[in-house]
Amino acid sequence: MDSEWICQDEDIRIVGCKEFIEATINAIELIRLTYAFIEMRKHLKCIRQSNSSYAEPRGKQPTYWVGEPTWKSDVSWYASTIVHDACHIVLYYEYQVCLLGVRFTLPWYWKGATPERICMLWQLTALEQINAPDYMKSHLVMQIVHPYHHRIPFKDANWTL
Ligand SMILES: [Zn+2]
Repeated sequence: MDSEWICQDEDIRIVGCKEFIEATINAIELIRLTYAFIEMRKHLKCIRQSNSSYAEPRGKQPTYWVGEPTWKSDVSWYASTIVHDACHIVLYYEYQVCLLGVRFTLPWYWKGATPERICMLWQLTALEQINAPDYMKSHLVMQIVHPYHHRIPFKDANWTL
């Protein structure tokens, strides 16, 4: 049975099991004062437990869906993935255009190799700002050089170390 928690300061809904909510509150607590989070979180409205990890900017509540391998990993790492996926949502809104009354965002502006690199750079900034261990940062730098995360289907995507 899912529970729900509204993170008052941040106005973010957290939906999932108790353990998930606790892990997410801890992760937000760790990054909430970082520049990376403050810049990237503006469109993020919901963080929700799922089987895999991906951002869904469309709909009333832009959501970061989070799989267990991600939220059960180290709290610093989990926190950095919130910045990463919030960044995809920011890109989605920043590159939204309106044509004949229809709002849309061309997919390569918010997902694909280049957006992936942008999101990973913001994630790296978050890791820097919370003094995360070097191995986490080098793990990420390897992926910035050779991004592959965007090629994994949504249903299988997770952030593992
Ligand atoms: Zn990504």
